[in-house]
Amino acid sequence: MDLANRARVEAWLRFSDDLGLGPYFRDRASTFAVAESAVPAKPAEVSAPNPNLPLARATFTAAVPATKSAPPRPSAPGPSLFEIVNRVEGDTLERIREDIGDCTRCCLHKARTNIVFGVGNPNAELVFVGEGPGHDEDMQGEPFVGRAGKLLTQMIEAMSLRREDVYICNVVKCRPPENRLPEKDEIATCSPFLLRQLDVIRPKVICCLGACAAQTLLETNQGISRYRGEWFDFRGAKMIATYHPAYLLRNPNAKPEVWKDLQKVMAHLGLQPKRR
Ligand code: SF4
Repeated sequence: MDLANRARVEAWLRFSDDLGLGPYFRDRASTFAVAESAVPAKPAEVSAPNPNLPLARATFTAAVPATKSAPPRPSAPGPSLFEIVNRVEGDTLERIREDIGDCTRCCLHKARTNIVFGVGNPNAELVFVGEGPGHDEDMQGEPFVGRAGKLLTQMIEAMSLRREDVYICNVVKCRPPENRLPEKDEIATCSPFLLRQLDVIRPKVICCLGACAAQTLLETNQGISRYRGEWFDFRGAKMIATYHPAYLLRNPNAKPEVWKDLQKVMAHLGLQPKRR
């Protein structure tokens, strides 16, 4: 493991300890040693998780294997931090919100008006994950309420669902200034809360809206067009990435592609398209 990755792992561990997520490793030094020897130089088809190797690549691989002719699907570039984080016993959305508190863990707190935690059905079969709040969301404290949010609501309704049937949240809970992309350290700091939300809700399908959410959960730098519409396994759920509604507002020609992705989700959930 190189120094940058190691520093990232250590930052996560410190932060997760703060969150009370539980001890990941009793002996971090020896764990890193095990992980370094356990992770193959050229990761290929890795299958079942090995409980003895908590940092080893586990189930976080594309559900659809790459073929010789197809470009490789993203998989965790190294040990998946999302896989090593244990579920928090007895966790609830209320407890996660309490743990966030009046958060100042990253610099995004400085310009925010409201923390935008998430909204919707706590038992939802479908969770949409976006990037972060925009201006309207920051003002109202609710995700996806601006123009892009209205389009997302239309997308949800086209799937024969209501907005309150699903759960909607973001990778970061505070608005990045000028709607810039969240920085890596901000994502690393805030995303454990997202992970806990997903663990509590236990949806059947997680739909990442846009590159930021997809890259965060897949732990990849690859562009979303490389794997948009493909299925992945993520902590017991199926995960799919599609374009962000804000992208669709700028590029309406991409709507048919997104609709195809949503139809895959509908098929997985046994939903019929809404009759017009
Ligand atoms: Fe805290 Fe997340 Fe807001 Fe950063 S973005 S201040 S980690 S709630």
